[in-house]
Amino acid sequence: MRVLVTGAAGFLGSHLTDRLLAEGHTVIGVDNFATGSAENLAHLKHEPRFQFEERDICQPFEPGPVDYVFNLASPASPPEYLRLPLETLRVGSAGTGNMLELAAHYGAGFLHASTSECYGDPLEHPQREEYWGHVNPIGPRSVYDESKRFSEALVMAYHRARGVNTHLARIFNTYGPRLHPSDGRVISNFVMQALRGEPLTIYGDGRQTRSFCFVDDLIRGFILLARSDEHLPVNLGNPGEFTILECAQTVLEVTGSKSELKFEPLPVDDPTRRCPDIAKARRLLGWEPRIPLREGLAKSLDYFKSKAAAAV
Ligand code: NAD
Ligand code: UDP
Repeated sequence: MRVLVTGAAGFLGSHLTDRLLAEGHTVIGVDNFATGSAENLAHLKHEPRFQFEERDICQPFEPGPVDYVFNLASPASPPEYLRLPLETLRVGSAGTGNMLELAAHYGAGFLHASTSECYGDPLEHPQREEYWGHVNPIGPRSVYDESKRFSEALVMAYHRARGVNTHLARIFNTYGPRLHPSDGRVISNFVMQALRGEPLTIYGDGRQTRSFCFVDDLIRGFILLARSDEHLPVNLGNPGEFTILECAQTVLEVTGSKSELKFEPLPVDDPTRRCPDIAKARRLLGWEPRIPLREGLAKSLDYFKSKAAAAV
C-alpha cells in the first residue's frame, strides 16, 4: 500500500512509519515540525520506500493516489497545545478536514489519532467508549479537547455521508523512546529530572491518576484497528492505573535516582483520573497491552539517557 502519515516526525508518527515500512508499505510522511523533530526520522534518510514532505496539513496538498491515511498531526502535550492554541484548533478542524477529503477522493482508508481527552475530567470510571465525557468547552485545555472532539465529528460525518472507511483510536497516555525530552509530558519530565538529579515536579497533590501505555503496544493496536471493520471509537491504552505519585516512585526506582519530589500547582482542569476500559479492543481486535509501566520505562531509559547526555 501507499500510505500517508501526518505528524510523521512526532513521537507516535515516527514509530508508526517504522512499523508500516517494516510491513513492506511505501510511506509518505508529512509534518510541519510544530512539535516534532527531524531526528525522529533521521534513520530513514536512505530508505527508498519513505518520502518526507515538510508541510502544514491545514493547507490542502496533492500527494497522489494513496491507499491509507493515518492522521496523527496535532500538538499533543499540554504545554505545547497551550503554546499553540490556534494551531491546535486549526489542525483538528481544517487539517483533519483536508485529510478526510484526500481519503474520500482516493477511496483510501482513514485512521484518526483521537484521545482520552474526549472524556475530559470523567465522571465515569473506567472510561468506556459510550461515555460522552465531561469537557470544559472554554477552559485553556479546550483548544485540544474540542479540536479532537470536532475531528471525531468530522470523521463520523465523512464515514456516514461520504462512505469513507474511517477508524477512531481514542489513545490514552502513551510513552516510550522519541517522546520529546522537553515537551512537558509527565513521563519525559520525570525521567529527565531523575536522570539529572533534579527534583521531580508533582503537579497538585499527585493523587490524580493516569494509565500509561508503552508505544509498541499502541502501534500494534493502531494496525489492528486500521484493518478492522469498526468505525466507532475504540479505546487504546493500558488499563494499569497509577497515581502521579506512584508514577514518580516507579521512575525513581527504574532510574535508581535519588531525586526529591517538588510540589507545584495543578494545571487548570487537569483530569482527576483516567483509565481506559479496553473490553471493546479486546473483543474486536484481540488486542491488549503486554508491557507494564516498569518494563516500558526500562525500555525507554537508553533513549532518555542519550538525551540527558546530549544536553550536558
Ligand atoms: P507529537 O507532538 O510528538 O507529534 C505530533 C506531530 O504532529 C508533530 O511532529 C508535529 O510537528 C505534527 N504537527 C502538528 N501540527 C501539524 C500540522 N498542522 N501539519 C503537519 N504536522 C503537524 O505527539 P504524539 O504523542 O506523537 O501524538 C500524535 C497524535 O496522537 C496526536 O494527534 C495526539 O493528539 C495523539 N495522541 C497522543 C497521545 C500520547 O499519549 N502520545 C495520547 C492521545 C492522543
Ligand atoms: N504532571 C506532573 N508533573 C509534570 C508533568 C505532568 O505532575 O512534570 C501531571 C499532570 O498534572 C497530569 C499528569 O501528570 O495530572 C499527566 O500529565 P501529561 O501532561 O503527561 O498528560 P495529560 O494526561 O494531562 O494530557
